Amino acid sequence: MARLGSWIESHPEGIYVRPADAWIDPSEPKPKAMITHGHSDHARGGHGAVLATAETLAIMECRYGPQAGQPIAYDESLRVGEVDVRFVPAGHVLGSAQIVLEHKGEKAVVSGDYKRRPDPTCACFVPVPCDIFITEATFGLPVFRHPETGSEIDRLLHRLHSDPSRCVLVGAYALGKAQRIICELRERGHDASIYFHGAIERLNQLYENFGVELGELRYTGGATKQEMAGHIVICPPGALNDRWSRRLPDPVTAMASGWMRIRQRARQRNVELPLVISDHADWDELTTTIRELEPTEVWITHGREEALKHWCMTHQIKACELNLIGYEDEDE
Ligand SMILES: [Zn+2]
Ligand SMILES: [Zn+2]
Repeated sequence: MARLGSWIESHPEGIYVRPADAWIDPSEPKPKAMITHGHSDHARGGHGAVLATAETLAIMECRYGPQAGQPIAYDESLRVGEVDVRFVPAGHVLGSAQIVLEHKGEKAVVSGDYKRRPDPTCACFVPVPCDIFITEATFGLPVFRHPETGSEIDRLLHRLHSDPSRCVLVGAYALGKAQRIICELRERGHDASIYFHGAIERLNQLYENFGVELGELRYTGGATKQEMAGHIVICPPGALNDRWSRRLPDPVTAMASGWMRIRQRARQRNVELPLVISDHADWDELTTTIRELEPTEVWITHGREEALKHWCMTHQIKACELNLIGYEDEDE
């Protein structure tokens, strides 16, 4: 068990804030949990009580049914036990938050998953200077530098327009990435109908209920090949290579993920058009954030911890990895 300050503890199943008697993103059911965002490796079902943003609670209810939830708005302050708690935007997906904890003059920020570049579906990351910064490191290697989102979207549109007899099938993580791709396309002026796989329908609806406008969407079920030709179709990554896609008009297979930087990963999924679009910080975003926050200590929750730890140490910042279990790379 690693000890941060003397009041935050790292256990394999999550971070425990002792003076609040609460867990953050625990991988097992706990009496009291504070949840950073709705991805299933961070937000599990079965907790006795949940403190999270209204958006995250809605995502959890969509997946697990009614929650004993208490919604907290961004920047609202709440006293939990002997800890002052505040949620601020993390820029990762709708409702995603960093959790700011203050106890006896020491400030810790648990960032959950985050990114720094703009995302039309959620509020931008807010930097909060702190003593202890607890960060992810999904793309914590210098090789990971995500390109401009706009240029990736333009590549997608160029491919779509180059052959109107085919469709472009985009694999995108069902929570967050799928809706972001749709919004990014709209921002680039693509007004045409976008078709979707049934598995993302409820989340599309949830985003729209929270005011994220997705434009004209159509369900693939019942649509003919002819109707879908020349259109973009969005599906979860798992559906890219399954029988379902045979109903589509000669699809160009694309996938939107930070992992598309790695050719091998694109090849494994038979992806013809890899789009490097990520909801996680790349190497520059991780290191810029740490520089900006100037923490005395950095604790790394999951991902490629080694390189980031080394970078911190060469910049005179104490760093260690937490070895939490249950966090996945997400198909992200
Ligand atoms: Zn996530
Ligand atoms: Zn994660």
